[in-house]
Amino acid sequence: MTEAIASLDPAAVAAAVDPGEYRRLLGMPREGPLEGLLAERADWARAWYAEHGRPYRAARRHDLTVIDDQGVTLADGTRLQGKALVHHLRRYDCHGLVGVAVTAGPEVDRACAALWAEDRPDEAYFLERFGVAVVERLIFAATLEGCQTAESARETWTPHLSPGCGDWELAQQHTLWRAIFPDRSLGPIDLLPSGGLHPKNSLLAAAGITRGTVAPSPLDACRSCRLDRCRFRRAAYRGPG
Ligand code: SF4
Repeated sequence: MTEAIASLDPAAVAAAVDPGEYRRLLGMPREGPLEGLLAERADWARAWYAEHGRPYRAARRHDLTVIDDQGVTLADGTRLQGKALVHHLRRYDCHGLVGVAVTAGPEVDRACAALWAEDRPDEAYFLERFGVAVVERLIFAATLEGCQTAESARETWTPHLSPGCGDWELAQQHTLWRAIFPDRSLGPIDLLPSGGLHPKNSLLAAAGITRGTVAPSPLDACRSCRLDRCRFRRAAYRGPG
């Protein structure tokens, strides 16, 4: 079954967005606080999301039955194509895959449109970028929590891939969608015929599941994971993520 978490707390999600990552997404240096009007706008967007946002996440795990050079077959018969996906899953010797869908929620799109209509482009920009930061945060949290749960089954998650990012073709968005929502128990995300998602600040991703070794990455979830005795740890804990 799709594990749907529709009741994520927007205030907790907003508070968890890293200020440095938000500054990066605003096109500003990660280091050093914002000041003056920039700080006011950034604080306003965070507070707006904490009050009005509706973050959502859904995930579904599959065993892999076939991996060949062109794609993978999931245990339910779904066929995901793509050499980049095959390379990723083989690289980590994966036996499973989890599809994840996240969104910052449609309220952000509606509020941004209203702000533009009211000739308030600054607030619209800060809020739109905060929506992007929320999506990054939701994917990170999904990876961290999913990986912690998997550890008790002696499994770990690889970094995720998304159709349309890097070498994995956007055309696979529809198949990944069906792998996450086979029973059409949809949340607030719509998949458009083009492969785009609505609301705008939404993402589909696939992570591999393995019992093998995963190379550390700069933003590795392990750096925010308190699981002391994890056999798969690949980076030292350095505090809450
Ligand atoms: S330490 Fe790393 S590998 Fe282990 S559960 Fe936490 S995030 Fe996953």
